[in-house]
Amino acid sequence: MRATYSAEFIRRIPKTDLHVHLDGSIRVSTLIELAREARVALPSETDEGLNHLVFKDCYNSLEEYLQGFKYTVAVLQTPEALERVAYEFAWDNFREGVRYFEVRFAPQLHINARQNIETVVESVNRGLARATKEFNETEAIRSGAEPEAHYAIIACAMRAFFKGMSEYYNAFLELHRFSKHKRIYHLASLELVQAMIKLRDELGIPVVALDIAGPEAGFPPHDHEDAFDLAHHNFFKKTVHAGEAYGPESIFEAITRLHADRIGHGYHLFSTELITDASIRDRERYVRNLCEYIADRRITIEVCLTSNLQTNPQIADIRRHAFQRMCEERLSVTLCTDNRTVSKTTVSREIALAIEAFDLSPGLLRDIIIYGFKRSFFPRPYREKRAYVRRVIDFYDGCAAAWGVGIQRR
Ligand SMILES: [Zn+2]
Repeated sequence: MRATYSAEFIRRIPKTDLHVHLDGSIRVSTLIELAREARVALPSETDEGLNHLVFKDCYNSLEEYLQGFKYTVAVLQTPEALERVAYEFAWDNFREGVRYFEVRFAPQLHINARQNIETVVESVNRGLARATKEFNETEAIRSGAEPEAHYAIIACAMRAFFKGMSEYYNAFLELHRFSKHKRIYHLASLELVQAMIKLRDELGIPVVALDIAGPEAGFPPHDHEDAFDLAHHNFFKKTVHAGEAYGPESIFEAITRLHADRIGHGYHLFSTELITDASIRDRERYVRNLCEYIADRRITIEVCLTSNLQTNPQIADIRRHAFQRMCEERLSVTLCTDNRTVSKTTVSREIALAIEAFDLSPGLLRDIIIYGFKRSFFPRPYREKRAYVRRVIDFYDGCAAAWGVGIQRR
């Protein structure tokens, strides 16, 4: 029998978002205001106009999808703008019942002559911390009736960057005029990890992991191997955008060479036809082995359904998304938004989509939600994480009981 869940139940249960980009989640109204202040020209100055021209329902490619970031990054160049957007982002999450998020962004896109990387990340953290403190002071949390909210920050290195992407990257390219571009991209990643060490260890900012973002095609993850080694050796967690535009080999590389604890998207995990290495004779077996490894090591896949449908128009029908098989193979998966604004979605919407398309049983839904908390890069001691997850589970089960949602095992 098909399980049904009310919209209110989905809103009430404690949720996570482990894969969400700050610059892709700015409120459209805020973008318009900030653009006016910073004199950044937008293709339209209305919500409707921007939703029509930039933040679309469907995109033709990942490249087109990434276009909107040009505008959001352009307005996020002052401490005030960064703090405001971070603050609003956190509240947008809390209002729909997200209790834990790990927000990611590429700090180097926001460095300019007036703000260094410390200012960039501290400003974002200030906004997040203020909103979280306010939320945690509400009666339901203070009384202990509901679990409190926490957050962490993931720093994104860019697979590649070009002139005009940010003042920092412009300068970086100019200063390394005679070096190969791939080497320059990697140098910037290494520099980012060095900065992350200072941000975490000296400034106490909850930067927990390194990620690599940007177009996959032509920019393989192993170009950034030393940066991920450095992060690994400094006890940072690693999550890697992989298998979004490339096949299983890019996921394999992310795990074996970049030490990935989680995989962003992983959409093409089962796409044997995308394997390019001629030495892999038995493609089915390769994917099976990779899948077994991911399952057994509990490497979590950050699934972003709406975003995948938007950047891979050939999927056409959500029911053909690899998420179905990921669940059948008992992989550890978590549902994420990727970009609240660029993908026009919320965590609740992603969960509702998954329930509808894949007929999730109450037990499976509960596993997926709880995995988000368990496989998070929680920025506090493990004992605290365990206690927090326990409170979250109790609260979830309380919601399930209150809404009459059975939690029998799948
Ligand atoms: Zn992403």
